[in-house]
Order: sequence, then C-alpha cells, then structure tokens
Amino acid sequence: MIIGKCISCGGNIVAGEMYYSKFKCPECGAEILRCEVCKVHGNPYKCKKCGFEGP
Ligand SMILES: [Zn+2]
Ligand SMILES: [Zn+2]
Repeated sequence: MIIGKCISCGGNIVAGEMYYSKFKCPECGAEILRCEVCKVHGNPYKCKKCGFEGP
C-alpha cells in the first residue's frame, strides 16, 4: 500500500515493504515522509506547506 511520496526524491513510500521515516515539519507541523535511502544519505528536503528546508 502506497502511503505517500518521499519529500526528497519523490519516490513512492510503500508501507510494510520499505523503511521510511515520518516526522513533523519543525516549522508548521505538516507531516513529512522520507524514504530510507534519502534518510541514510541525509538528502535535503523542503516542506511543501511552509517552505522550511532541512534535514
Ligand atoms: Zn527518497
Ligand atoms: Zn512546514
């Protein structure tokens, strides 16, 4: 089941088939999904809602 897209690479996040991290934007609290690859590589992300950039 696809639960969303990775915010860094845009790849689908498939629940139960891959590791991913789910956290809230430190600025606005919007839910952010990031795949394991991007998490390990520390790829940057940008919140779609408020534009906050980080890891
Ligand atoms: Zn990714
Ligand atoms: Zn945000």
